[in-house]
Amino acid sequence: MPKIPAYAAPAAKKPLAPFTIDRREPGPHDVAIDILYCGVCHSDVHQARDEWGSGKFPMVPGHEIIGKVVQAGSQVTKFKAGDLAGVGCMVDSCRKCEPCRRGLEQFCEKGAAFTYNSTEMDRKTPTYGGYSTQVVVDESFTLKIPAGLDPAGAAPLLCAGITTYSPLRQFLVKKGDRVAVVGLGGLGHMAVKLAASMGAEVTLLSTSRSKEADARRLGATAFEITRDEATFTKLARKFDLILDTISAPHDYNKYLGMLRVQGTMVVVGVPPEPTPVAAFSLIGGNRRLAGSLIGGIRETQEMLDYCGKNGIVSDVEVIPVQKINEAYDRMLKSDVRYRFVIDTASLRK
Ligand code: NAP
Ligand code: ZN
Ligand code: ZN
Repeated sequence: MPKIPAYAAPAAKKPLAPFTIDRREPGPHDVAIDILYCGVCHSDVHQARDEWGSGKFPMVPGHEIIGKVVQAGSQVTKFKAGDLAGVGCMVDSCRKCEPCRRGLEQFCEKGAAFTYNSTEMDRKTPTYGGYSTQVVVDESFTLKIPAGLDPAGAAPLLCAGITTYSPLRQFLVKKGDRVAVVGLGGLGHMAVKLAASMGAEVTLLSTSRSKEADARRLGATAFEITRDEATFTKLARKFDLILDTISAPHDYNKYLGMLRVQGTMVVVGVPPEPTPVAAFSLIGGNRRLAGSLIGGIRETQEMLDYCGKNGIVSDVEVIPVQKINEAYDRMLKSDVRYRFVIDTASLRK
């Protein structure tokens, strides 16, 4: 295959710049996908800046990929050339261990092959993400995109969508439940749309006063500012579920106080440093603190089909790849409404 144009972080904390990568020739079970759009997740920023450690450079980020199938291997049954296809955070796993068999490939005991900053299951070949024009992925890790969804808006479903859909399902959110979403960014705005679509009464907790009208338009019925300490007293013991999407350090104890008896706070945001949790924050009220990592392939397809039925996509700002460093800086200032998506036509020029 010819060299594929991409954008990469050459080293930790260095700006992203043009780069070229190889993709393998599609095998019998592979599909080759011409990438149309790739969403920009805050995890791309954390990893390109090596905030979680173990960064592999040069790094081509991007795990919210939508594109057109251009070639399907001889054994491929789910896709044919011309189909719209999606790739999320994983491209392979061992498929045999207990978590894999349960459809929780993200917890593969051998270590899943993540879409970038990882290796294929041979543990040698580096994986490169969606800030590129083409990707080759086994059909088992390739998702079908329901007809009728705008492809740019659907791209962020592959990470932001599944990461928020999965905990809403795990904790059985239903009509009338009181759900708080903390942080109105890429994950947060999907959480509001999805929780509202499930009939929950959604409160948005934000540091940005300017986002109130958007929060309500997206489906929240209440909006409060967390910079105001009175918010934590006003909302004490109110929520069945809190979905915490904050990407920066903050005090979990304050948020736990807003849970009802037996309520659950699910952490999906990944601040780079650990945070102390007081025992009393949990035992007062039999409260639970949980975490959730993306979602398995089966559940990701379920989420896409759900979004197809309910007409749910992300609110996006489409950018050329050349604006990626600016986009990262704007994400760090919470200045994104509500997901940047790269139009990969900008890589083909
Ligand atoms: P994002 O678009 O940048 O949104 C994060 C939001 O957090 C911001 O919009 C802001 O909302 C709020 N925030 C930022 N700094 C804050 C601070 N210092 N104090 C309080 N609130 C703050 O990021 P994202 O793409 O949604 O990702 C959010 C986090 O989830 C990241 O850490 C990412 O790595 C992680 N993530 C986890 C998974 C998983 O599987 N668990 C998957 C994807 C991403 P307001 O302006 O409303 O305050
Ligand atoms: Zn992500
Ligand atoms: Zn496995």
